[in-house]
Amino acid sequence: MIKLDTYEFWFLTGSQDLYGDETLRQVAEDSKKVVEAFNADSQMPCKLVWKPTLLTPDTIRVCLEQANADPKCAGVITWMHTFSPAKMWIAGLNAYRKPLLQLNTQFNRDIPYDTIDMDFMNLNQSAHGDREFGFITARMEVPRKVVVGHWSEVDTRERIALWMRAACAVADGKTLRVARFGDNMREVAVTDGDKVEAMMKLGWSVPYYGIGDLVSYMDKVTQAEIDAQVKSYESRYEIVWGPDKAFALSHIQEQAKIELAMRAFAKDNSVNAFTTNFQDLHAMKQLPGLACQNLMADGFGFAGEGDWKTAAMLRTFKVMSAGLGGGGKGDSFMEDYTYNLDPNAGYNLGAHMLEVCPSIADGKPTIEVHALGIGGKDDPARVVFTGKPGAGICAAVVDFGSRFRCVLNEVEVIKPPKPFPKLPVARALWKPFPNLRTAAEAWILAGGGHHTAFSNIVTTDMVRDWAEMVGIEFISIGKDTTIPAFRNELRWNAAAWRK
Ligand code: MN
Repeated sequence: MIKLDTYEFWFLTGSQDLYGDETLRQVAEDSKKVVEAFNADSQMPCKLVWKPTLLTPDTIRVCLEQANADPKCAGVITWMHTFSPAKMWIAGLNAYRKPLLQLNTQFNRDIPYDTIDMDFMNLNQSAHGDREFGFITARMEVPRKVVVGHWSEVDTRERIALWMRAACAVADGKTLRVARFGDNMREVAVTDGDKVEAMMKLGWSVPYYGIGDLVSYMDKVTQAEIDAQVKSYESRYEIVWGPDKAFALSHIQEQAKIELAMRAFAKDNSVNAFTTNFQDLHAMKQLPGLACQNLMADGFGFAGEGDWKTAAMLRTFKVMSAGLGGGGKGDSFMEDYTYNLDPNAGYNLGAHMLEVCPSIADGKPTIEVHALGIGGKDDPARVVFTGKPGAGICAAVVDFGSRFRCVLNEVEVIKPPKPFPKLPVARALWKPFPNLRTAAEAWILAGGGHHTAFSNIVTTDMVRDWAEMVGIEFISIGKDTTIPAFRNELRWNAAAWRK
């Protein structure tokens, strides 16, 4: 399971030494109170670390260099309590390489009309100081998020908390290893891409392993381990034994063996995401289904057919949503499969051959064993369910050669109007925003792939923040999307991202 409390964020308060000791003492006291209040708020996923007020170019540079070097530090939050001349920040910001959030708040919420004097205004002038800081970050094109609001407001804190989650995913990405068992599915374009560029930009490492590397781990799994794993499936899922219990059990045991082998392999190789490819299964008896699904439910990134970008994206979502899941809230590998093209009921049915994550299930999923019409292997055991209704997003990262583009669509997962008695795979039926026709036209115009990472926890803003932090193009399709405006946005983006 993913734990975000391995990361922390530094809270940097800007000022200058012209103000005198008394004012600076007050500045430090106020910023400590802000940090304490944030740390007492359970929605904050990580600890905020208070740092002494920054007053000089040297201390600013040293502090930001230390933030770079500290592996626990996943980002900094700045606040200019008073005026902090921004030339002092240039050397530090030039060196700084991690996510930055500028919090434009002020210690007092309301103007104290009856008592306000010049001393008060000089102490509480973030309206002034944060504009100076905003100028230099804009001039230097520092990737950043700006949050304005009083520090006591739930909404202000929630925006900071979600940004922190996106920043944790950036930090996780720097050590992310996506094990690719087999290569890209032969001849498929969108799942392929530049793995060197991905490592440079996102930190994602995508090492190749032969399926034999996993099979050798499978050979070491004991029957006792398999039996214990099947027991854990029984507590998590409802097993449909069918007419031949021995047949079903042996097929479920095979998936348990794959899962245990994958866990051991992942531990030995520092892997937290992986891909499979049904064209390259050699010594394996089944396409991994249940195994992949149960691993995704525990925080692994995964995608089928060698799609390492989507596997990494799913891991990214798993980090962003860590600790917020449960009861059908989660993140999954997904594929746009088939439409309901009724103009009054335009839906997209998302599924995959097998591997959709049970974290998004509405109710208790079942484990079932069915034949698979592709790949020519034994009938794979899989987890079957329907996705929980509610708001969600689908996002894909595609490689445009000169850049990565992240395409996102906001959707509303719905309760299917009828059951799917003959569909033996996990699925989710959704209404894309603004409607199926516009959403699908925009998605196709943007070149978004058929594989996505789906989440009903991660928000559009979190993915936008993440794209800003890692420096890749982001474009979203939602309630306000129109095709003419979207086409123009694609054109502007093409110009903006031209190297
Ligand atoms: Mn696929």
